[in-house]
Amino acid sequence: MQYLLNTYARFDVQFEKGMSATLWDKNGENYIDFTSGIGVVSVGHGNERLANVICSQAKNIIHISNLYRIEPQEKLAEEIVKKSGIEGGIFFCNSGAEANETALKIARKYGEVNGEIKRYKVITLENSFHGRTISTLKATGQPKFHQYFGPFPDGFTYAKDIADIYNKIDDKTVAVMIELIQGEGGVNPFDKEEIQNLAKFLKEKNILLIVDEVQTGIYRTGEFLASNLYEIKPDIVTMAKGLGGGVPIGAVLTTHTDVLKPGDHGSTFGGNYLATAAALEVVKILDEEKRNGKLADTIEYFENKLLEIAKEYPEMFESVSGYGLMRALRAKTPEIRDEVVKKAFENKLLILKAGTHSVRFLPPLTITKDEIDEGFERLKITLNSLEK
Ligand SMILES: *Cc1c(COP(=O)(O)O)cnc(C)c1O
Repeated sequence: MQYLLNTYARFDVQFEKGMSATLWDKNGENYIDFTSGIGVVSVGHGNERLANVICSQAKNIIHISNLYRIEPQEKLAEEIVKKSGIEGGIFFCNSGAEANETALKIARKYGEVNGEIKRYKVITLENSFHGRTISTLKATGQPKFHQYFGPFPDGFTYAKDIADIYNKIDDKTVAVMIELIQGEGGVNPFDKEEIQNLAKFLKEKNILLIVDEVQTGIYRTGEFLASNLYEIKPDIVTMAKGLGGGVPIGAVLTTHTDVLKPGDHGSTFGGNYLATAAALEVVKILDEEKRNGKLADTIEYFENKLLEIAKEYPEMFESVSGYGLMRALRAKTPEIRDEVVKKAFENKLLILKAGTHSVRFLPPLTITKDEIDEGFERLKITLNSLEK
C-alpha cells in the first residue's frame, strides 16, 4: 500500500474470491457483502453471465473510440431509453461525476442558447452528493468537501430542502439538480408529491430538472429508475454505479437531444465495446429479475429483516429509510453508527455509513435469501455484543 496515495481509510482485508453477495479473504474466511462495492456490483460477484459476456467481448473488440459506430453502445442506449420511459438520447462516460459534469454542460449550453439572457445557475440541495471533480464537488451541498479545493466555478446555489428551491430561483437559474433519495447524505428519500409538484413547476418555468440517479438508478429502488418510482420525467437523468455491474460506465439521458453538437463534448473511453456489452447484460439480467418477481421478493424479504432489527433494538435505532435495496437504519447517535459498522466488519459483515447517523445497506440486487439470513444473523451478533 505504500505506493498508494492515502485517500481512503481502508479496512485491512484482502478479498480473493467472490460469489453472489459472499466474499472470501486470503485466509478463506467468508464475509457477507451488504455493500456491493457501494451499489456497483448489482448482479453480484462472480456473475457467470456477465463474466461470459465480458470475456467474449474482450476476445474480440474492447475499444475503438467514438469515431466509429459501436453496436452494443447503440443497443444499450435504446434499452435505457425504453426501460426508463423517457424519450431522449444518451451520452456515455465512465463515472458518476463525469455523468453529472455532462449534465451540467448540457444545462449551461441550454441556458446559453435558449432565451435572451444567458442562464447558468444550477440549484442543488444541502446534504447532496454529486461527485469529486471540481464542479461536481461545488454542486455537492456539503461544505466539508469544499475545504482546500477552491476557487470553484460560479453558478451554484444551495437550497435547504425541496421547498427552499422555489426561494432560490432567479432569472439566471437554468437547472435544478437533485437526488430523489440522497445516498451519501444518509439515505433520505424526498416526498413523492413534493417532487412531482417541483417537476411540474420547473417545466412551466423552462428550468431543467436534472436527477442524479448515479446511486438510485438501474433497479436499485426496485424500479428501473427512481424517477419511475416517483413518476416524473426529468429533463436529464445521470446514471453510473450499478449500470456496469463493476465495469466502469456512466450515462446521461436527456430529452433535450439537440443541445450538444459534434465537438461540444466527448470521452475517450465512454461507451466502449467492453463497458456497454457488460452493461447491456447487466440490464438484461436485472430486467429478468424484475419481471419474474424475484427482485420484488428480495426487496420485501430484506425490508422485513430491517424492520425487525429496528423493532428489536429501539435503544440503538430510530427508523428504517430508503426504497428497494437502497436502505438505512438511522442510529440514535453517530457514535453508535460508527461502532456498528466497525464491529460488523469484525463479525464478517460488510455494511456502509451514510450521512452522520445512518448505517447503509446496498446489497447486490441478486442477493440470495440465505445470504440475507446470514448477514442479518451477523448483524444481530454485532448488535448484541454492543448492548450494555
Ligand atoms: C457515487 C455518486 C456520485 C459519484 O460517482 P463516481 O462514479 O464516484 O464519480 C455522484 N452522485 C451520486 C448520487 C453518487 O451516489
